[in-house]
Amino acid sequence: MRKKIVAGNWKMNMDLGEGVALATSINKQLITEPPDGKEVILCTPAIHLSIVGPLLNAPGLSTGAQNCNDHRSGAYTGEISAAMIKSTGASSVIIGHSERRSYYGEDDELLAAKTAEALYNGLRVIFCCGEVLAEREKNIHFDVVRRQLSKALFVLPREDFIRCIIAYEPVWAIGTGVTASPAQAQEMHFFIRSLVREKYGDETAEDTTILYGGSCKASNAAELFANPDVDGGLIGGASLVREEFLNIVKAL
Ligand code: PEP
Repeated sequence: MRKKIVAGNWKMNMDLGEGVALATSINKQLITEPPDGKEVILCTPAIHLSIVGPLLNAPGLSTGAQNCNDHRSGAYTGEISAAMIKSTGASSVIIGHSERRSYYGEDDELLAAKTAEALYNGLRVIFCCGEVLAEREKNIHFDVVRRQLSKALFVLPREDFIRCIIAYEPVWAIGTGVTASPAQAQEMHFFIRSLVREKYGDETAEDTTILYGGSCKASNAAELFANPDVDGGLIGGASLVREEFLNIVKAL
């Protein structure tokens, strides 16, 4: 069964006290009003995970990281391994966010290695893909997304792939206030699901969760989530504001 998910990507925001306050308050609300079979994942800064994770006990609520290293352990000063993330109780890790691709030069090959490492350590992967504006304007957005998925995700055997969630995040919509229209989101999500079908078959395609990300907020979430191939959202800015985030969860 395809899971419906809202994941918040806090990025490099919130000190520990602020993070604990926000997560605790979301947890409390989701105990009062459980998200009814849906999942909510808070992708906090990595250093929050071991404190925030144990505070959460609402049904369907868990923590995730925003990145992990591609090596298992060793002399990689400043880096955080997938095993360390898993040991905090986190369920998931975001891999391939466009900010990591563009600011830190993460390419398809590195992202494939990070994905494999995360899965090896029992984490679920929220794998981001999406085109920049120039690529959409040149009408090569489908090719870009196909390449990103083929190089890093479709190299996985089916039993590993099914532990991945795909997040379509058009880069021109991230943090810009410009959201993909519901039709643009549905068109790409339908395309992504058809790629999964080609590679892994019908059942896997139907079971794959595909999230939309890019200036999704409480006011536009319902119309995005109403599309048959949009299974929830990866939320940046709006995940930092309690009411906004909870209303996005409600919209799902
Ligand atoms: C993101 O960075 O994953 C994201 C979707 O950001 P925003 O919601 O702020 O556009």
